[in-house]
Amino acid sequence: MIMLLMYNDVFSSTSEDSTKTSTDESRQFEISKSDEEWKSMLTPLQFKVTRRKATELPYENEYFDEKRKGEYNCICCGSKLFTSNEKYDSGTGWPSFFRPYDENNIIKELDIALFMIVTEIICSKCGAHLGHVFDDGPEPTGLRYCINSASLKFIEEK
Ligand SMILES: [Zn+2]
Repeated sequence: MIMLLMYNDVFSSTSEDSTKTSTDESRQFEISKSDEEWKSMLTPLQFKVTRRKATELPYENEYFDEKRKGEYNCICCGSKLFTSNEKYDSGTGWPSFFRPYDENNIIKELDIALFMIVTEIICSKCGAHLGHVFDDGPEPTGLRYCINSASLKFIEEK
């Protein structure tokens, strides 16, 4: 009987841990708006990508081939997410970076909605879906942050 209780304890604490790593829809962000508010300030594509986790088409997006110097900010809240210093040509048709501007400005979450378990990248300030990170990127990180142009606003460095 005692053994059984101990087993149950272990089992319940393990399952709690696993829920923490999965997507938590109830998380509160510093910037929080209703769908109607987001819709009024975003294009339909920007809304679908950042608020509904859609993925834009490769090569038919604004920044995959952008080579100017500058920074890439969140389209929803303006938080600085990536810069041209970390951007590289991955050949995938989406803007790709080997590192975010600041790790604190993004959140990584397991995305179990796809057939594979992949790591989703979201804005830590407003919860916008940005894209995914894969482990086939270049040195020095070996990571590829595959980001939707629709979630970014590029500001050229003058
Ligand atoms: Zn944001």
